[in-house]
Amino acid sequence: MSRLGAWFRNFMKGRYGNDKLNMAILGTGLVLVLVYTFIPSVVAKLVLWAISYILMFWAIFRSLSRNTYKRYQENRKFLQFFERLKDREHRYFDCPKCRQTVRVPRGKGKISISCPKCKEKFVRNT
Ligand SMILES: [Zn+2]
Repeated sequence: MSRLGAWFRNFMKGRYGNDKLNMAILGTGLVLVLVYTFIPSVVAKLVLWAISYILMFWAIFRSLSRNTYKRYQENRKFLQFFERLKDREHRYFDCPKCRQTVRVPRGKGKISISCPKCKEKFVRNT
């Protein structure tokens, strides 16, 4: 068992491993498998089966990936997305010029926002 453990540690060396995005992908895949068993339509079953397999392969691919930086960025974006959903006080906009994310208070109507990075000004409805 310890030899197998050592082999596995060596195999995973430099690879990305697991994160919250992977858990969410696997979770969605499992839910789809559960839904699959309750759906009578053959076509819907086939589609669900395909999607759940794609999701599981995607999660495996991510955890074995050696491009850890890219995987880390994906996870960060995923977590950020939920952070923003929870944030009822602010709205987030991307600067049209440099793509910098700007956070502004919600419910102030139309305001002119100036980008903190490149000083570009743009009007958005908050
Ligand atoms: Zn900008």
